[in-house]
Amino acid sequence: MPYTAPKWARKIEERHLRFRPITSFEYGYWWIEWGGATDTIRDNEAIRFELLAIVTGVWDYIKNSGKYPQAANWAMDWVGMVPGKRESRRIEGDHILTQQDLMGLNGDFKDAVALGGWGLDEHPPGGFDDVEKRPFVSTKLPDVYNIPLRSLYSKDISNLMMAGRNASCSHVAFTSTRVMATCAVMGQAAGTAAALCTRDGITPRELYRDADRLAELQQTLLGDDQTIKNLKNEDTRDLARKAKVTASAVAEGSRPESVIDGWVRDAVGELAHRWAAPMSGGKPWIELFWADPQALRRVQITFDSGFHRELTLTSSDSHNSKIVRAPQPETVRDYALIARLEDGKEVELARVSGNHQRLCRHEFAPVRAKSVRLEVAATNGSDQARVYEVRCYG
Ligand SMILES: Cc1cc2nc3c(=O)[nH]c(=O)nc-3n(C[C@H](O)[C@H](O)[C@H](O)COP(=O)(O)OP(=O)(O)OC[C@H]3O[C@@H](n4cnc5c(N)ncnc54)[C@H](O)[C@@H]3O)c2cc1C
Repeated sequence: MPYTAPKWARKIEERHLRFRPITSFEYGYWWIEWGGATDTIRDNEAIRFELLAIVTGVWDYIKNSGKYPQAANWAMDWVGMVPGKRESRRIEGDHILTQQDLMGLNGDFKDAVALGGWGLDEHPPGGFDDVEKRPFVSTKLPDVYNIPLRSLYSKDISNLMMAGRNASCSHVAFTSTRVMATCAVMGQAAGTAAALCTRDGITPRELYRDADRLAELQQTLLGDDQTIKNLKNEDTRDLARKAKVTASAVAEGSRPESVIDGWVRDAVGELAHRWAAPMSGGKPWIELFWADPQALRRVQITFDSGFHRELTLTSSDSHNSKIVRAPQPETVRDYALIARLEDGKEVELARVSGNHQRLCRHEFAPVRAKSVRLEVAATNGSDQARVYEVRCYG
């Protein structure tokens, strides 16, 4: 596959790539970045052109310098035409999230609504032109960190909220919060907060100042499977929390009562906050029962979806090889939900086959139930049935 660079391609030499090694061809190079020292909004077109000049120049170097004979059969088939931006405008909120916050030096936030965890990941503003600098400096964080509601609404405009790259963060804190999954959970938090504000006719700042509403926001987020560090399910409407729990079998390190302990994540290798049981013994089940019958109309189950395994969007072969591009093996696939009524009769509330979701909600005609039993018929491959949480609502 011959390659002739356009006239306007940059002329790349070895010195440009001192800290920018070319290790594979299938994925592109994240370190081809330029424009951090200009106005990334006003100068967008100029930045795109300069980036194209660098991309074509680097490819010319790979194909024609003679240093990469293994690239002989490779061709460049696509280049993005919208410049991606690591950093652009941010809006100041009532709190500006800082590096110290992320490092846990300032304690926790009472208005925590989302979670981040990517290490600090600073890139030099000159990008590819900063040839004497490494393209990024990475600083590990001691733990995941919480993001407060106050960083998701403007300090100056009463009804303006932010989520993602425009949230209220210092430059350094932002080098962690800008990753896609963290941007997404900020969106979940801001959207849920906006809905609460609209319902009650209040501003986001008023929501922050109202302890009851703030707790409602946090519990609503947890109920939708948002993870917030140090916060667990304390939803007073969740009837499962006052149930007794038994199971047909229990794997070592796990307990049936874990499904109502409020936590829905485990450290890698642990089963402390999950019920787990071997599939080998037939259809394992877990049952929640109450001394007094409960009026139920909704059950919510949080299954295991293999959070320890990589699941990301990438074209990099090294990452792709670790991804299961199918339902995650740990997730329960086929199951039934059965209620026992006051008179001892059993009613099937739900029967599911082919599930691949972590969070499953079932609504049904109201029943007065003495117990609810989850029977697992199959997983997506794991030899254990695993359930993080069961919630029941009237
Ligand atoms: C080269 C590069 C590599 C990266 N690598 C990774 C990575 O490996 N992993 C990772 O997690 N993250 C990575 N990131 C960071 C991450 O991709 C971004 O920070 C994140 O996608 C930002 O999401 P966002 O929703 O905040 O902003 P955006 O995705 O920019 O969304 C903002 C949206 O608003 C729209 N918009 C703007 N103005 C208006 C308007 N006036 N009206 C209506 N719509 C408007 C825009 O068109 C855009 O669609 C990378 C970023 C870059 C640039």
